[in-house]
Amino acid sequence: MIYKPYSLHNFRQIPQMSFLTDEQKLEIEVVGTVLPFKTDNYVVDELIDWSNFEKDPFFHLTFPQREMLHEKDFSRIASLLKTNASKELVKEEVNRIRLKLNPNPAGQENNVPVFNGKRLNGIQHKYRETMLFFPTQGQTCHAYCTFCFRWPQFALNEFKFAMKEADQMVEYLKANPHISDVLFTGGDPAVMKTRFFESYFNALLDADIPHLKNIRIGTKSLAYWPYRYTTDPDADDLLRLFEKVKKRGINVALMAHLNHPGELKTKAVQEAVQRLLNAGVQIRSQSPVMRNINDRADIWAENWKEQVRQGIVPYYMFVARDTGAQDYFAVSLNRAWQIFRGAYNQVSGICRTVKGPSMSCSPGKVQIVGVSEIKGQKVFVLNFLQGRDPSWVGKPFFAKFDPKAVWFDDLEPALGESGFFFEEAYLEMLA
Ligand SMILES: *Cc1c(COP(=O)(O)O)cnc(C)c1O
Ligand code: SF4
Repeated sequence: MIYKPYSLHNFRQIPQMSFLTDEQKLEIEVVGTVLPFKTDNYVVDELIDWSNFEKDPFFHLTFPQREMLHEKDFSRIASLLKTNASKELVKEEVNRIRLKLNPNPAGQENNVPVFNGKRLNGIQHKYRETMLFFPTQGQTCHAYCTFCFRWPQFALNEFKFAMKEADQMVEYLKANPHISDVLFTGGDPAVMKTRFFESYFNALLDADIPHLKNIRIGTKSLAYWPYRYTTDPDADDLLRLFEKVKKRGINVALMAHLNHPGELKTKAVQEAVQRLLNAGVQIRSQSPVMRNINDRADIWAENWKEQVRQGIVPYYMFVARDTGAQDYFAVSLNRAWQIFRGAYNQVSGICRTVKGPSMSCSPGKVQIVGVSEIKGQKVFVLNFLQGRDPSWVGKPFFAKFDPKAVWFDDLEPALGESGFFFEEAYLEMLA
């Protein structure tokens, strides 16, 4: 299958656009001017059900929707486009709106290490065991998710994290014996040609680092372009490369971003999964819970069951980040917990490898364990699944129950405490 991307410039050529009114197409154009927009022929032809596109999760997942902007911002851009305003003026307005959308959530710049006096801009190291690596060639995606917290990378250059040099990654890794995992991320590293994977992986193998146990690849490619592992010209080479890494005693894990069971139904994705498993690759799944996409327990239960049937290990349920079109997707923490529990309750033990719902915030990954009552006060029970300080992990703590809270920042300590147990140490770390 030949890859064909669509974006703001050519989406009107998509044959299925005939299902939309002129007004709906204009809405895509207006919102797509502010938020990054890109989709591809696989998503359009195989995932979206055009007979019911207004309700279709994959349409909401990749096509900009009017309600993703505040009404005022939407009208402002719409009127600029309708009156053929100058490019400069549009750009100025677009930037103003983008900067309001929290383009850099969870203080990601705090995760960039300084090594031998230099900031390593393509690396983030926040949790002791796992280093994130942002290869320069992998900072785009086959299609863009409308909820993505990486959106500034596609739209705002000054926030870009990326690195070309494998050497620096290897040196940093050698100097940090606690790191067992290197997680390739982006964007989507799977957009890289195999020869780039080869140069990075070979550098890691040649360095022969005994504490390196897992190479992980965070990717949406299974759902947006499964042909990366089947018919792309360098698909076979990529699988052989994974096999080689495995043979050298390093585990290869594909951290697959899978939002909805519909993504697992096509012949192409099932073949891709089988080929990866045959090459010895582990596949683990993760996804945020989002309104309009997957905000029902049954969807998650079906997703986990189908994943496990195909050999994929359910890994994380996330709470949607506080960035971009968050208002459009936000599910309250209380609701996220109910969805998690409702789904977890109806699957067998082998699906219960999943953790969540989890918020990736600046101090760490905070799980909503549940809602309970202590000394007459209704509380959220929380727990760090990952922490900037590993000693925070696994100690339950409490926040006042708030049915409207959608993110960690909305929460307050419960039971008369003046702060959460980790707060002082956390502020000290940032200082
Ligand atoms: C989620 C995340 C990781 C990986 O965490 P695991 O729990 O090991 O999957 C690593 N670094 C950062 C910054 C993360 O947000
Ligand atoms: S594939 Fe991943 S990085 Fe790319 S837009 Fe979607 S969520 Fe963001």
